[in-house]
Amino acid sequence: MKTSFLDQVCSAFSSDFMTQSPEKLEHFGRDWTRVFLPSPSAVVFPRTTDEVARFLRLCSQERIAVVPSGGRTGLAGGAVAAHGEVVLSLDRMNRMEPVDTLASTVKVQAGAITEAVHLHCLPHLLTWPIDFASKGSSQVGGNISTNAGGVKVIRYGLTRQWVLGLQVVTMQGDILELNGALEKNNTGLDMRQIFIGSEGTLGVVTEATLKLAPLPKNLEVFFFALEDIDAVLRLFQEARRSGFQIMAFEFLTRNCFELVSSSRGLTSPFQKSYPAYVLMEIERLEGEGPWDRWLEAVFEKEFVLDGTVAQSPREAKELWSFREGISESLSLHGFVHKNDIAISISQLGSFVQEMYSLFMTRNPGLEIFLFGHIGDGNLHVNTLKPNAMNQEEFVQLCHETDFELFTLVKKYAGSISAEHGIGLLKKDALPFSRSSIELELMRGFKRLLDPQKLLNPGKIFD
Ligand SMILES: Cc1cc2nc3c(=O)[nH]c(=O)nc-3n(C[C@H](O)[C@H](O)[C@H](O)COP(=O)(O)OP(=O)(O)OC[C@H]3O[C@@H](n4cnc5c(N)ncnc54)[C@H](O)[C@@H]3O)c2cc1C
Repeated sequence: MKTSFLDQVCSAFSSDFMTQSPEKLEHFGRDWTRVFLPSPSAVVFPRTTDEVARFLRLCSQERIAVVPSGGRTGLAGGAVAAHGEVVLSLDRMNRMEPVDTLASTVKVQAGAITEAVHLHCLPHLLTWPIDFASKGSSQVGGNISTNAGGVKVIRYGLTRQWVLGLQVVTMQGDILELNGALEKNNTGLDMRQIFIGSEGTLGVVTEATLKLAPLPKNLEVFFFALEDIDAVLRLFQEARRSGFQIMAFEFLTRNCFELVSSSRGLTSPFQKSYPAYVLMEIERLEGEGPWDRWLEAVFEKEFVLDGTVAQSPREAKELWSFREGISESLSLHGFVHKNDIAISISQLGSFVQEMYSLFMTRNPGLEIFLFGHIGDGNLHVNTLKPNAMNQEEFVQLCHETDFELFTLVKKYAGSISAEHGIGLLKKDALPFSRSSIELELMRGFKRLLDPQKLLNPGKIFD
């Protein structure tokens, strides 16, 4: 890193603005993927939008590459700094304004932790309904930049639906105020949407006005055991027909269930083990009839093998752990190759069958852990490295198989990334989901907003 640049940073910002300590470089240079080696040259910690703007302007002048960094829970390598970039951490920009209870909105800085926003809104019986297992570490800026999904998408949609206004700083240091706190604004292109999901490649999100939903009441959590994916989809159809407000409809296979049970020491709610499980959460609306008659009718149809309903919030939390503990339990067991794909739900049954036969023929020795937000057609396909196999051989095998998996995804007009994003991890596979014209348009936006290619370089595409 050029000494002249370091000198300019030292004279223009406070003494604790930048660090080059080896521990911080290691910590802030990586995300949850653990695939890429971190190698940033410095980490900076702005406190205000003005500091972000001044810093990016200086980096543009001096041609210094910058990686925006949130909670680093990303699963695509988007926040990884592997080539001497400066990491711009939003950790200190975590201020939250008072909740506007009339508009049901809250303005927060981008570094606010997702779960902290939930807790901030809780006393007003409101919530920002972006919810998943990493909410205790992920940040609002990271959620917006990945257009995060999660376990409640079936009820609320993606992050995109819950962002009213954005403040973004471009690599040239221009501050954009996009849409304020307006619900309605038909004055040309909605520029917010270009930044949401752009994985820090087009601008740094510094502030957002978030839309809030009423806190759900009367939640009921069910856990079902089933024979196969067809029975899972049949249960989903029955649940949709019931008229209940479905909050989550999550699926996991036997090996995921057993892995979480052993790594978290959980006791199964069932006497026997089954091939597939579903966690379903519903909100019982005022005046709605009880769910037990619906449950009886479902059991009479004999495609559900067993089931239980949480009798207390503690039991509900325990049932949720079987689903929410999967990613963490897999990581604790060893090296995991992850895929996060989406298929239209009406085609999911035949897709899963074809996918399993692909894996059986291609890699009979590798075990697949399948789970996901099945109500949204989103499957997480995880392969755990066998102890006896070396990592290089395993990664090579997985990449070769990915090519065939993505060909299958394309055949079903699906997506190679339902929610984790592209980052460094999936950029070679992007043409399976996006046409060459779309890719050229995306590159056009990049050229327009970051002509020197300094902001999060090499992410999404080269
Ligand atoms: C156990 C576990 C469970 C998960 N479950 C889900 C899930 O169900 N659904 C889901 O969608 N994701 C899930 N994730 C992935 C991850 O938590 C989300 O992608 C999350 O939104 C990332 O937020 P972050 O703050 O950690 O972002 P980071 O990992 O820090 O960054 C992600 C990307 O956003 C960019 N970025 C970060 N902050 C900013 C900013 N202020 N301005 C511009 N760019 C920025 C980074 O450069 C990077 O490209 C899970 C992860 C884990 C570890």
